[in-house]
Amino acid sequence: MVGAGPAGLSCASTVEGRVLLLEREKTPYENISCAEWIPPFLDIPCIQKTEGMLTIYPGGEKFSPVKGKVIDRKAWQKNWLSSLKCDVHTGEKVLYVKNGRVRTDRGEYRTEWICIASGPGRAIEGLIPQKEHLSAVNMRFKLVKPLEYTIVWFTEEIKHGYAWCFPRGEMVNVGLGMRGRISSMIPRVIEFFKKMGFIKGEPIKITGGLIPQEEPHPFMEQKILFVGDAGGFTDPLTGAGILSAIDTGRLAGKLVTGSISMEDYRKELNKTYIPFIRRRKKRKEDMEEQWNYLKSTVERYWISIFPE
Ligand SMILES: Cc1cc2nc3c(=O)[nH]c(=O)nc-3n(C[C@H](O)[C@H](O)[C@H](O)COP(=O)(O)OP(=O)(O)OC[C@H]3O[C@@H](n4cnc5c(N)ncnc54)[C@H](O)[C@@H]3O)c2cc1C
Repeated sequence: MVGAGPAGLSCASTVEGRVLLLEREKTPYENISCAEWIPPFLDIPCIQKTEGMLTIYPGGEKFSPVKGKVIDRKAWQKNWLSSLKCDVHTGEKVLYVKNGRVRTDRGEYRTEWICIASGPGRAIEGLIPQKEHLSAVNMRFKLVKPLEYTIVWFTEEIKHGYAWCFPRGEMVNVGLGMRGRISSMIPRVIEFFKKMGFIKGEPIKITGGLIPQEEPHPFMEQKILFVGDAGGFTDPLTGAGILSAIDTGRLAGKLVTGSISMEDYRKELNKTYIPFIRRRKKRKEDMEEQWNYLKSTVERYWISIFPE
């Protein structure tokens, strides 16, 4: 198992004792870049429930009753990692993967199955790299006044993406994901949410990451599986990937332990995530094509205004 994010943790806890989890960071839960929003039905302890989403866009504003939860990913992943009943090697980076062989900066392993849960990019020798991403940044601020809903801001300058302001108790996650040079847009986003009166001062913490924009890619060779972001199971439209990382990790775990067959595994992915991500990718591409008409584009394609 390569990677101790939600996908790797989910797979490793499904397989239980019969897996070695390799994670390059010593404390992988420490610098996670995430807005921490999940759908309300996911059974993860939350810091705050959110009652809706306010979408702000050129010439318009709409509140939708999209409910959700904002979680503490650091605490959640730290607890999950420490509760695993399998061998875990943190601080060990996987360098190379080939059918049945995994080489790391500490040694080499032979194994029947290899499950890649290394997040976006798949930057490991021997793997087909993932090339299409949005750049994203999340900043933690202190919340100035109570906020019970999430805010999403579309503007032409945040090219093919959006900015967010997601409350988490006394704090708030503010960020953006986009194509092109993200650094020049960060001050604009901070200024925008400051003017709304929700944040002030400097960010307490800034983290960056990538959001995959590709079709799902669940296999390579016979027994190398890709799950979570590494498998391209992230929603290209919203950037959300926690739920699908947990689900695809769990499903891969069931395949590895033999509780489902390869045929069932393929069937399940072809019934659920593969068509879902393809639909969302098409929506995202349509949005990008019509980016110059952002008002009508947001009203037509943004998920909280025009749901599936
Ligand atoms: C700014 C930002 C905000 C986001 N906000 C949300 C949100 O609000 N809601 C939501 O649902 N999703 C959100 N996402 C997406 C979400 O974070 C991902 O979809 C999710 O983390 C995917 O989980 P994963 O386990 O596949 O990968 P990751 O969480 O990326 O975990 C991969 C792990 O693999 C390890 N690793 C990588 N390479 C190697 C290697 N060579 N050897 C060993 N270990 C390795 C990494 O250190 C890491 O611990 C956001 C993403 C970004 C960038």
